[in-house]
Amino acid sequence: MKYKSIWLDNDLNKNIHSLDKDISLDVLIIGGGLTGLNTLYHLKDTNLNVALVDSSLVGSGVSGHSTGKITYLQELIYQDLTKTYNKTVAKKYYQSQITGLNNLVKTIQKEKIKCDLDKVDSYVFTTNKDEIKNIRAEKEILESFNVKVEERFGNIENLNSTYSIKVSDTYVFHPVKYLYTLKNICLKAKKEIYENTKIVNIEKNDNEYICKTDKYTITAKKVVFAGHYPFFTIPFLSPLKFNIEKSYITASLSEYKKYSVITSKNPCKSIRFHKDKNEYKIFLTNSNKICNELDEKKNFDNLINKSHSLNLNPEYIWKNDDIMSIDKLPYIGRLKSDNDNLLIATAYNTWGMINSFVAGEIISDIILNKHNQFENLFNPLRIKGLSTIPKYADNIFSNIKGFVESKIQRNKNWYSNNVEIKNINGINVGIYKENNKTYKVNTKCPHLGCSLIFNEKEKTWDCPCHASRFDINGKCIKGPSKYDISYKE
Ligand SMILES: Cc1cc2nc3c(=O)[nH]c(=O)nc-3n(C[C@H](O)[C@H](O)[C@H](O)COP(=O)(O)OP(=O)(O)OC[C@H]3O[C@@H](n4cnc5c(N)ncnc54)[C@H](O)[C@@H]3O)c2cc1C
Repeated sequence: MKYKSIWLDNDLNKNIHSLDKDISLDVLIIGGGLTGLNTLYHLKDTNLNVALVDSSLVGSGVSGHSTGKITYLQELIYQDLTKTYNKTVAKKYYQSQITGLNNLVKTIQKEKIKCDLDKVDSYVFTTNKDEIKNIRAEKEILESFNVKVEERFGNIENLNSTYSIKVSDTYVFHPVKYLYTLKNICLKAKKEIYENTKIVNIEKNDNEYICKTDKYTITAKKVVFAGHYPFFTIPFLSPLKFNIEKSYITASLSEYKKYSVITSKNPCKSIRFHKDKNEYKIFLTNSNKICNELDEKKNFDNLINKSHSLNLNPEYIWKNDDIMSIDKLPYIGRLKSDNDNLLIATAYNTWGMINSFVAGEIISDIILNKHNQFENLFNPLRIKGLSTIPKYADNIFSNIKGFVESKIQRNKNWYSNNVEIKNINGINVGIYKENNKTYKVNTKCPHLGCSLIFNEKEKTWDCPCHASRFDINGKCIKGPSKYDISYKE
């Protein structure tokens, strides 16, 4: 059993270069996940001097830990958008997803990207009879957009489902093979990609942005933040606008089938199949707000038990988290209203395969001064009146809950004898012992001060508020934290 994502268990990432000098650019893209690479791809044939940096390796973030479903059937999204806004907005979102899906698939075909793309049916299902009316309502909304939706009573995949709806023109793929090929296409087009290069500060100076790594300076006329959770709080006030949802995933050897399924709401269960040298069933469950259920041992044990109950013997096990927006629409566009050139694309509400492609199109159109029909829909500066106030309040509550509970609840029983948290001179030091070696870290998250929880399975220190992660040496492997947590006596 490997505690890592199935997509990252390969050595296909070649041509890895880090920044080794100061540079000056037209556009800097921060982040080498799907958002960053899709944006770079859309700018590759321009004369603009564009480069992308990633603090770690391309694909190693949320994109490389996803389930890789390319579908516009996204739980009950069209109903949610109709309730929060109206049917016109729901339809516009649907159009963005269909356009994004078609353009993504066309790109994969045109560029002959070998990423195990396969056309499969997508199902949304429930095990609860009371939920049937909601799924039916989703079906009706989709049908009013002229989508062919089939309904089905009865079980799928031993999941005890009572009712489901199905659409047929959706896909699955290998997100990391896709990303590595995009990387090579962009490198061939003479666009630079610097991995293991982290931006720790962005400042505006007249009409330019001065972006600093720990050693070098990148000056850029435009900056795209494609780094998932921004390390800067102002001007976007991310902790207020974002909620984070975590999920736990296994991949087990199993016969390949041409469909994917997901529950209409939490408690979430999701399945897709994957085929390369072997055939796998990928099973996702235990979705929860990041500030809930902090005992990671329990979370992984629960995942393994649920996998066993479906007759699965996991080969790969991992955890992932994504940003949920206030109103279920992503944030894509300018961070400030005055034609500012700091852009962002994030908060895909766990549906980033298509949304990151849409983001790549929108962001590149903004940079090239082209009209994009979806720019207004995803404007990060939108304000959605009184109805979203409870959501903002809930986000504030979640931040406080994560902060407080991580301090109060952090519990010896969560860990084996190899882990200890000890107060040394006022610092809560996390001590982990393995193979006669001792690793010490400062367990206060450098981002906003939450107490880190040890994830003994993946050997990481995880923030229960904003999802930063650190390895056992204290190196920050996932933001928003900009800093490491190494502890020296
Ligand atoms: C459990 C789970 C399953 C999912 N499954 C699906 C699915 O089946 N279908 C679907 O459509 N969506 C899915 N999603 C959602 C999707 O994975 C994400 O929305 C999407 O991958 C986000 O892509 P990204 O490029 O914005 O972020 P990332 O992939 O995280 O990329 C951001 C990159 O930026 C880098 N970075 C961050 N900060 C800095 C910095 N300061 N300097 C330099 N680099 C930096 C990071 O190293 C990282 O590589 C899932 C999400 C979760 C949590």
